[in-house]
Amino acid sequence: MNSTVDGDVDVAVIGCGTTGLALGRLLELEGLRIAVIDRGRMPMARPRATHVDDETMRAFQTLGVQHLEKTFSLVGTYRHYDSEWRIVMQMAMNRGLTEQGWQSDYMFHQPDFEAVLRGHAHNYAEAGTYFGWEVTGLEDARDRVLVNLREIATRQDRRIRASFVVGCDGARSGVREYMGSTQIDHQATHRSLIVDIIPLVTKDNLPPGRDAFIQGAIRNPLTFTRIAGPRLRFELMLRPDDDSAAFARTEKAYEVLSPWFSPDEYRMLRCDVYEWRSLTASPWRAGRVLLAGDSAHTMPPHLGQGMCSGIRDATNLGWKLGRVVRGDSPIDLLDTYETERRPHVDAYTTLSALLANKIEALVASEEDPPVLRAEALRPRLGPGVRGDTNELAGTLSAQPRTASGRLLDDVVGYRFAVVGDPAVLSGTTDRTKALLESLGTHVLDEFSGEVRDWVTGLGAAAVIVRPDRYLFGAAGNATELDALVATLATTLLPTTVPAS
Ligand SMILES: Cc1cc2nc3c(=O)[nH]c(=O)nc-3n(C[C@H](O)[C@H](O)[C@H](O)COP(=O)(O)OP(=O)(O)OC[C@H]3O[C@@H](n4cnc5c(N)ncnc54)[C@H](O)[C@@H]3O)c2cc1C
Repeated sequence: MNSTVDGDVDVAVIGCGTTGLALGRLLELEGLRIAVIDRGRMPMARPRATHVDDETMRAFQTLGVQHLEKTFSLVGTYRHYDSEWRIVMQMAMNRGLTEQGWQSDYMFHQPDFEAVLRGHAHNYAEAGTYFGWEVTGLEDARDRVLVNLREIATRQDRRIRASFVVGCDGARSGVREYMGSTQIDHQATHRSLIVDIIPLVTKDNLPPGRDAFIQGAIRNPLTFTRIAGPRLRFELMLRPDDDSAAFARTEKAYEVLSPWFSPDEYRMLRCDVYEWRSLTASPWRAGRVLLAGDSAHTMPPHLGQGMCSGIRDATNLGWKLGRVVRGDSPIDLLDTYETERRPHVDAYTTLSALLANKIEALVASEEDPPVLRAEALRPRLGPGVRGDTNELAGTLSAQPRTASGRLLDDVVGYRFAVVGDPAVLSGTTDRTKALLESLGTHVLDEFSGEVRDWVTGLGAAAVIVRPDRYLFGAAGNATELDALVATLATTLLPTTVPAS
């Protein structure tokens, strides 16, 4: 239902980029009343993100948009060249099907993803959708936040009262300003000209298949990638003394593409200059107002992880907001959002900042260029909702297929799950069983094939997986599982539950 009525909602999501739309959908899975608000009447026509990793594809599965996978493309090998087109290094990006249950890396078309999730929000009876509306201000109303809105086309004003507000309003976040958050600068500010095209002719002078390249050690390092389908992206890094306006001219795009295409051989989709910054906001929460996605952290695009990180924010925050709004957990649970997510995203931010600062210095050596195989960065969550007796706690879980051939998350849903040896599960106390039920946990009733191989391969007899697919912890026997569940209950439930 497309609500046009002022009213009360559990969560107002400000900003419908990839982060806000993912969060809105997860809050729908939590059954909350929401408002989703964006200045844009339609999804942004000029996509920024192109790369999706396997963990994010798994999040797309939770969002119920995995059918889009058939429109995605795979990635090939990245070759890094120096100024003389000598290979400095090659990186085979495609690791095939991973333990996440999906391909290691994809290229996607961001507007399709956003369109589908906007449609989901529109279809959700408990959502008010405000597309083409701008948030003009927030006001503290003790246990609520007042959100002031204006429809851009009509100038009419509205006001929503929300229990919580999440600012998914991007790098220039007004919500962040309202909260008084500061930003830590990781010192990697660069500008790039992005030119996207659809070729209208076939060319044999481009890298084969899904391969891509970066040419460094030249005045303006150049990156070429294949986006989903027929789309191609050329990205030219600007020097500090380069004039953005001069680089954003159409003629400049023609010039950049001239070694491969004549201007009459393609449809230009865009030519824009972006400025990349590596910033982390602090704090991410002030009372009932929180930040997620680019409003909380930005990074250069070299790892293709900015959007993926925002989606991780959403999967971490969605279930926590669900519990707090329902009164299943105290509001302090929301503090664990930043303590867990911030060190995790910092791992990507600092590495992409390092790469951004190095790209211009790529020079070939006399030795044969190394052929490297890409590895996934899988940082551990910071302290928060995790059992800390085992180093597996806070790491990303795998997604095996169950005996019936279904992917684990499809069986479990967006909630806690216990996966383990039935003998261990039946050996737990009645109190453990009652706690698991009160926590809404899905106890998987099978332990064979890929599922068993995964758990035993971790050296465990049972694991607790959080709704965002990170491990709460692992247990070797029933007594350890009793203790782990008691810790989980102590962490989540409003009153302290003594371990018995
Ligand atoms: C060229 C480029 C390439 C990139 N490539 C990748 C990649 O391959 N992979 C990857 O993971 N990441 C990539 N990134 C990063 C990625 O695009 C961003 O991290 C991601 O899009 C951020 O999403 P977001 O939803 O947090 O913010 P945004 O997408 O910026 O969304 C914010 C939304 O808030 C709305 N808004 C703001 N203020 C208000 C207001 N007052 N009222 C109403 N609405 C408001 C805006 O209209 C906007 O729709 C790339 C970035 C760029 C620039």
